[in-house]
Amino acid sequence: MHLNFNLPKKILGWYDNNKRSLPWRVGKNSPKKLYYRLLSEFMLQQTQVNTVIPYFKKFTKKFKTLKSLSKCNEQKILKLWEGLGYYRRARNLLLTSKILVNEHHSRLPKKIKEIKTLPGIGDYTANALLGLVHNKPAIAVDGNVKRVFSRIINKKESEINFDQFIEINKKKFFNSKRNSDFVEALMEFGSLICKPKDPKCGICNLNKHCKYFNSSKKIKTIKYKMIRSKNYDVFCYVNKKKQIALTKKNNLGFLNEFSLPEIRETKKNIRNKDWKFLKKYKNSISNKKLNINLYYKFSSKIPSSFIWHSIDKNKEFIPTFTKKIFRQVSILF
Ligand code: SF4
Repeated sequence: MHLNFNLPKKILGWYDNNKRSLPWRVGKNSPKKLYYRLLSEFMLQQTQVNTVIPYFKKFTKKFKTLKSLSKCNEQKILKLWEGLGYYRRARNLLLTSKILVNEHHSRLPKKIKEIKTLPGIGDYTANALLGLVHNKPAIAVDGNVKRVFSRIINKKESEINFDQFIEINKKKFFNSKRNSDFVEALMEFGSLICKPKDPKCGICNLNKHCKYFNSSKKIKTIKYKMIRSKNYDVFCYVNKKKQIALTKKNNLGFLNEFSLPEIRETKKNIRNKDWKFLKKYKNSISNKKLNINLYYKFSSKIPSSFIWHSIDKNKEFIPTFTKKIFRQVSILF
């Protein structure tokens, strides 16, 4: 569907007066542009802006340049990332920074195909970087952008082919020299004005052209996702030295990369009679809610795939999920 108004002009007009001051927004010619954009794009995958800001500041205080980040070891990066979750992002960020520094003279390739070969960079992030770093005519279509487009034309997201929509309107979308700002303005507009729940149509400078606003049959854009919680049993071997046995072997996909005690989905009618019950508590990881039943056993022997870890040791990287277990178990000592 062709748009019959100048969207970039409207959106950029709004953006220039209302954009948030975010630490990764540096000037077009800043030498920090690639590093700051890369770091923030990795951190913002699946995470809210407000959560990311303190982590971004912590990283850029510790590593002033992409080069200094690329020279760091994985354990240090994971330690700094601790609490932000989705730790694969941190590992991929490190790998990507090494490739950019060592093989591309600390520059971002100009072709999307090449950008997408970098670890942890898919279609969305590649388009975002292409627009933000190289000012190329590319739009990263995230949830905010989808919602804005779908409301402007008052069509359900599931009925829109976004690539086609951008292609059809590309002359209009990329008619300014500010592609990078346009990408960012669209996302910002989606999160501050054309919000998922109560869009601020009354103060929106697109409302004259917006089919959603002007239609008596408005599309529904909010999807409510039911998140069910699941029950898990966690089994902790502990010893008198205040240590807990951890393993990286478990069959729970979303916890695969972590060091944990043994954890299994709770099975009805199975009593864990060799283990002592310690506590029930709730936890959430990624988008999953977990009800935890914590069991323990004092033992000097542990299965071969486990290693002892001191409960008080905090210098190395321990995921937040495991740290919570440490806190619960420490009441035994
Ligand atoms: S008028 Fe409302 S629905 Fe349309 S773009 Fe503006 S905020 Fe979104």
